[in-house]
Amino acid sequence: FIRLRWLAGLGLMAASVGTGPLLGVPIQSAHIMAAAIGLWGINLLFSIWDRKLSAYGRQTIAMAQARLFANFQIGCDLLAIGLILHFSGGIENPVAFFFAFHMIIAGILLSPKMAYAQATLASLVYAAVVGLEQQGIVSHVHLGIFHPPGFYRTNAVWLVVLTVTTTLYLLVYMTTSITGRLRQREAEAAELARQVAEKAAQLETAYDELLATQKLQLAYMHKTSHELRSPLAAIASSLDVIAEGIVGELSPNQQELLDRARERVRGLMRLVDDLLTLLRSRAAPPKERFTRVGLEHVIESVTELLAVRAANEQVNLVTEVPPGLPPVWGDDELLDQIATNLIANAIKYTPAGGTVRVSLQADDKHVILKVADTGIGIAEEEQDRIFEEFYRTKGGREFQTRGTGLGLAIVKSIAEAHEAAISVESALGKGTTFTVRFPRGDLPPSS
Ligand code: ADP
Repeated sequence: FIRLRWLAGLGLMAASVGTGPLLGVPIQSAHIMAAAIGLWGINLLFSIWDRKLSAYGRQTIAMAQARLFANFQIGCDLLAIGLILHFSGGIENPVAFFFAFHMIIAGILLSPKMAYAQATLASLVYAAVVGLEQQGIVSHVHLGIFHPPGFYRTNAVWLVVLTVTTTLYLLVYMTTSITGRLRQREAEAAELARQVAEKAAQLETAYDELLATQKLQLAYMHKTSHELRSPLAAIASSLDVIAEGIVGELSPNQQELLDRARERVRGLMRLVDDLLTLLRSRAAPPKERFTRVGLEHVIESVTELLAVRAANEQVNLVTEVPPGLPPVWGDDELLDQIATNLIANAIKYTPAGGTVRVSLQADDKHVILKVADTGIGIAEEEQDRIFEEFYRTKGGREFQTRGTGLGLAIVKSIAEAHEAAISVESALGKGTTFTVRFPRGDLPPSS
């Protein structure tokens, strides 16, 4: 408003000086110039008021004051237009259309009630100018462009007033109904946003509860597995003592039954051990324990330990480790678990005569561990599932009865804790390659 009013004042000044000489129209230049200066004066007060209002910031008081301010400004403008009209031809001057701008602005900014009140004020101002001039109560400036000299005296002027008034009310009606609808949409959008935020908060709470339950579940599982481990170990060693014949000779039947029992107990112990390892890796290993680890050392110690097993199974175990590899950032015990599980699996699921190749390499962002075998392979439809707890493939179960189905779940969980990606490529009867990409430990974590 204020910025436009400075311009309007300037326009009026130009019009007061230019209209007479340029268009040959006899308007009251001095009066119009005075009106323009008056307009600037009022505008100066408005700009002071505006600055004061801005100081309120977003407080509620600012809204009420702003509404009052807008109403007041529009009201003043309507009176100013009336005055200018009077100085420049009254009914003869099409400047009356300037009332229309204010109706549109009022329709957008003010409440419908206030906008209609402004339309009424504009109509009254216009009717007053025209009426007072018609009745000869105030003087009339004759422009002589659009209307004959006595026109302002005729009753036809009321037709013009009626047309202008109707236009003003219609404008207010149209703008208020459009802005009303927009405001309704805005309110609906705000309500939707509120509901979304509420749902998000509920989800967050539910997620927190889920995490807490999961933690509790892990704690129970951990405790139970732990409790199971010692009695199982005691049973296993008692069975070993019996099997060795220390407590008396065994018949072949007893020996066979005992061996089966020992095998089952060993299986159970493996299960409990795997469960404990899985739980440990799930409990998000503290990053403070992470250090720079050379994977080549991990691979060396794991392959050394598993070399005997590979030899027993008549599987070639080959390592390919280039010199000068960068380290990775992690927990060496957990990294040992990854390598052990992957290499032990590769040996376990490769028939005699096959090869297991363990290799390390680096690219600009990763250190890459590959464990490739020439074993039984994994069917494509099962490749997604092998990382689930307790999942064993059909071929895997047939080829090797021993297994808990937890090894790869452990591998995946540890890989995730190290922000490493794991993938598998496999073809039935041809072999399998597991690839784990660790972020390089010699680079800052973000890169
Ligand atoms: P498991 O104790 O049964 O070996 P894992 O979680 O280590 O459990 O592996 C899950 C399943 O994935 C295995 O039962 C097996 O069917 C399959 N699998 C894992 N590694 C290989 C491999 N190198 N070659 C073929 N199958 C494999």
